[in-house]
Amino acid sequence: MKRIVWYIQCELPAVLRYCKSCGTKREYRCSGQFRVNAQRKHLDIWLIYRCLHCDATWNLPICSRIRSVGIDADLLERYHNNDRKLAAQHALNMGLLRQNGAIPCVPAFTVAGENLPTGGPVELHLICDYPLPVKVSAVLRQKLNLSCRMLNQLIDSGSIKGAPGIHVLEQKLPGHITLTVQNDATDL
Ligand SMILES: [Zn+2]
Repeated sequence: MKRIVWYIQCELPAVLRYCKSCGTKREYRCSGQFRVNAQRKHLDIWLIYRCLHCDATWNLPICSRIRSVGIDADLLERYHNNDRKLAAQHALNMGLLRQNGAIPCVPAFTVAGENLPTGGPVELHLICDYPLPVKVSAVLRQKLNLSCRMLNQLIDSGSIKGAPGIHVLEQKLPGHITLTVQNDATDL
């Protein structure tokens, strides 16, 4: 079976939260930068967000008052260097965001990889660096330029299938997922 790989990349999602300067709920963009504050033997780490409207800063707490010796030196270095994967890990932590009064927005994403050939079947791999809050169906619709209705038909007819137990329409990107795509879907 022909094997095709699509790589999905996603922006760090913005959040909605109350902005004191604006006096209303605003969209905050994730800067992808950390603030690390070392005081005596304790460390605080935040991920920095900015109000799109007035540029006010909001710091998402990552670690509060942890003991400096308790953090792995390599990990601390990654915070100092604003490691992109680490920023994504926190910016995509929906529980952490909600705990801090922020509602995550659905992130924009891009799909890179060759188009499906005519004929089939094809083993289609969707790969991203870390689990993303993006539905598999959204990736298929964007890359194949399908309406919801067309995608539903292809899934109902079994032309696009996931592994047993995988509900393609509801599944979010886990990091790597394999689908099987049959002829009639690749003729699109
Ligand atoms: Zn503001």
